[in-house]
Amino acid sequence: MRRFAPLIVLSVLTACGSGTEQTEERLTQKAGTVAEQAAAASETVEWTGHGNDWKEQRYSRLDQINRSTVAELGLHWSFDMTTRRGVEATPLMINRTLYVTGSWSMVYALDAVTGEQKWFYDPQVDRSFLAKGCCDAVNRGVAYADGKIIVGAYDGRLIALDANDGAVVWDVQTTDREQSYTITGAPVIAGDKVIIGNGGAELGVRGYVTAYDIASGKQAWRFYTVPGNPADGFENDVMEMAAKTWSGEWWKWGGGGTVWDSMVYDPELDLLYIGVGNGSPWNQSLRSPEGGDNLFLASIVALKPDSGEYVWHYQTTPGETWDFTATQHIMLADLEIAGKLRKVLMQAPKNGFFYVLDRTNGELISAEKYTTVTWAERVNMATGRPVETDGARVFDGKKPVIPSMGGGHNWPPMSYNPQTGLVYFPMMVFPSTYLAPTRDIDKKPNQGYWHLGFDNMGMAPPPASVNEINALLDASYSGQLLAWDPVKQEQAWVQPPQRPTMGGTLSTAGLLVFQGGKNGNLTAHDAETGAELWSHHTQTGAMAAPISYAIDGVQYVAIAVGFGGGFGAQGGALAHHWKIPNRSRVLVYKLGGTHELPEPEDTLEEMPKPAAVTASAQTVQHGQVIYQRHCAYCHGDGLRTGGLTPDLRYSSEGIHNIWQDIVIDGVLSPVGMVGFKEYISAEDAEAVRQYVLSEANRVYAGQQ
Ligand code: CA
Repeated sequence: MRRFAPLIVLSVLTACGSGTEQTEERLTQKAGTVAEQAAAASETVEWTGHGNDWKEQRYSRLDQINRSTVAELGLHWSFDMTTRRGVEATPLMINRTLYVTGSWSMVYALDAVTGEQKWFYDPQVDRSFLAKGCCDAVNRGVAYADGKIIVGAYDGRLIALDANDGAVVWDVQTTDREQSYTITGAPVIAGDKVIIGNGGAELGVRGYVTAYDIASGKQAWRFYTVPGNPADGFENDVMEMAAKTWSGEWWKWGGGGTVWDSMVYDPELDLLYIGVGNGSPWNQSLRSPEGGDNLFLASIVALKPDSGEYVWHYQTTPGETWDFTATQHIMLADLEIAGKLRKVLMQAPKNGFFYVLDRTNGELISAEKYTTVTWAERVNMATGRPVETDGARVFDGKKPVIPSMGGGHNWPPMSYNPQTGLVYFPMMVFPSTYLAPTRDIDKKPNQGYWHLGFDNMGMAPPPASVNEINALLDASYSGQLLAWDPVKQEQAWVQPPQRPTMGGTLSTAGLLVFQGGKNGNLTAHDAETGAELWSHHTQTGAMAAPISYAIDGVQYVAIAVGFGGGFGAQGGALAHHWKIPNRSRVLVYKLGGTHELPEPEDTLEEMPKPAAVTASAQTVQHGQVIYQRHCAYCHGDGLRTGGLTPDLRYSSEGIHNIWQDIVIDGVLSPVGMVGFKEYISAEDAEAVRQYVLSEANRVYAGQQ
């Protein structure tokens, strides 16, 4: 990312040189009259929607905490959640109560001033659902409407709770529990309806969104994102149209296109925008052998919220094959572009381009690379389609592709500050390699297990020492906080590279950008320059975005911290050596806050002395292949877990003694480790154990 360095100075000078003056002027105006100041002193400002306002800008108009006062920001209270899996939730603050979700779709209602728990709801998700999802039992938050808190549960239910006491008002199953559907996203409210999508495109499902009546929980409509089997008849004309962009027997593979995160309702235009995910399987040559665009994969689709009727779409990655979802944060704004005020929709999806669309009709206004992109040269503005590079679809397990399957930007939310005109989000740079399938089982449809249509051996990192990994991280595995000018379609500033997997952002009228995840810190940055003005060590990682609210004239910043999710599970070299234990907490800050986090009792474990390898080198090698194909998507590529699942190299003698019971018979399935009897033999499981021992001995001997 060093290539950006000269640009930082340039863009600050050109874009913000006169802007600073203007901003100071705006700030002076903002101070207002004495009466206005008095009103501000008793003001209560809620955070009622996932992205705050309906435009999902994640901008707080509060400015008590600002560039001058942020140095006095301190922790006010903390709340420990009961689980330690991933945390990805944006809290809501309504009626002096914080509503926040933890892992397994649990909902906590906390007093927003004191942190005292008002109520707690556990939907009792069957832990075996862990094997039906790609990326941990996370939840990105609740929706609020008509006195109800609505949560999507990991097992596919949508549940409305009484906001006052957490009592269940209604509880509906939105998916077929026999299929590999899960819910991790926040529902969205559109008038008298609540809409929810689902995930599962790594495990062979067909994506859709469903609308329910908020009062009764009764289903209003369902919109599929990819066509089903033509022999069954299409649900509507638009599915018939979409089917013309597919070939072969795609329906047998599921097709994918899951809407697992961003959905936004636009009351001005009465449109619902949904972000659609990757193909299932990833490998297009399997699911649609003659190619085609494969609508509506990797698209933003606008629907009528009353009926689910299709209005327009824009496809970011036609013929998607790299896991380039367009499920990332959809943000709306009214921007002056080329002298005209445009109603725009903005997204920085995984594929590395920042898109600005006209949200009235889906017309592409502009698209530029926000990060390193090797799969496409540019977006052709005449056709709206990416111009792929030569060899972009070469899957030899060697050719690196950037962005990776993790994306140049993933789900961590962006924020926009109307004063600076900039969008702030965590950008990532690291490569993926893809290997065409070599085994018959990977060439056939088979829902129910991690199935990409690629050989997972292609993702195996080479054995490396800790120094080599760190060098790799410094060179090409990085994450950075980026400020993007959506009108000029260029970077305004970027913070120095960190490890990938940084958190989402919050913008405030105090001209600050808040972000978690940097070396275990929550940080505040100057919105104009990016300079870090404040930080607090949260004792853990963070992926979720902070929010801000005010009660009785006091401004607060709140964040749900904790690591996990896709990177926590499959983290591999990315998250390895994170060296910060995973804790799930809600942290709330205010000016003058004096609360201190308890001294950590848990520390990272020492590695027990591993037993000797008793198998041949050939068996160890076989164990690596089996591991990489069946175990890596939870325990980390090359045994390098992100810390969420056990690092198998640290397995105790006790675990080694019951290895077959765990791996084959599934005795730990109540905690999410299902048995693999259907996929591997007892000999395979023992080979994996020998591979684990081999790697453990290497680490124990100080070779890593
Ligand atoms: Ca995916």
